[in-house]
Amino acid sequence: MTTTLVHPTTPRRKAGHSAEDISPDAAAALDRFFHQLAHARHRPLLLLDYDGTLAGFRVDRFQARPWAGVRRQLQRIQRQGRTRIAVITGRPAAEIAPMLALDHPIEVWGLHGAERLHPNGHRELEDAPPAARARLDQVRAHLRRDALGGLYEDKPNAAVMHWRGHPPARARQIEQRTRALFEPLAHLEGIALLEFEAGIELRVGRDKGGAVRQIIAESGNDSPVTYLGDDLSDEAAFRVVNLAGGPHLSVLMRRAWRATAADVWLQPPAGLRTFLARWESVDAATA
Ligand SMILES: [Mg+2]
Repeated sequence: MTTTLVHPTTPRRKAGHSAEDISPDAAAALDRFFHQLAHARHRPLLLLDYDGTLAGFRVDRFQARPWAGVRRQLQRIQRQGRTRIAVITGRPAAEIAPMLALDHPIEVWGLHGAERLHPNGHRELEDAPPAARARLDQVRAHLRRDALGGLYEDKPNAAVMHWRGHPPARARQIEQRTRALFEPLAHLEGIALLEFEAGIELRVGRDKGGAVRQIIAESGNDSPVTYLGDDLSDEAAFRVVNLAGGPHLSVLMRRAWRATAADVWLQPPAGLRTFLARWESVDAATA
């Protein structure tokens, strides 16, 4: 599918009965995808980021519950049984089930794709090359002692620095110090730098694009696939979806527009609810 970027300067109109404004190009891309979804012979893939996409941001991330109505929509899609739903998040995978509170366990890829939690509870953490792992562990130990003035988050496969909420000059200083530490190591085999909004992560393992690639491959490559995400770390997933062999649509789900590889831009929560409602009705019609 060709990329139909939606720019704020694009002429806008009210789309159908939905509450949000979207461009004619985006409306056409959505219509095309849902038409293909209705006629698909393979099990569709509904791939979702969590924070910022299904839920608004909270300073305390354990307060970030899904937007009103979204949990019940996902519940109904899950019950219909046609769609394979997976959440792909930067968080540890185990955090998602209690936040979503669905009746049945869901497939979750955590740590930006390096960790996989199957619906039956089986958990896999991707192995990293020992040399990469050793260097990363040195950095994690260093930052646990000295967080460089920022908010340090220690993950099993990553060192994460956040500067959200700091005044700009202070945030720049934290970023510069962190980059000075991270960037030389990011050139090493098996280690990568992941940029996200108001932070960076030095990590080993699959990224979100790698997780999406594996899910698509397991589904046989012809399945309809969509990915909804808000952050820079979701761009890798958008790019993989854009190259999928089956019907596909990548969606930037975000209040404000930004440059993206996604096919369309929708604004949560109204744009999310409308999208899930269409999905639900297509599934119901094909049952
Ligand atoms: Mg997000």
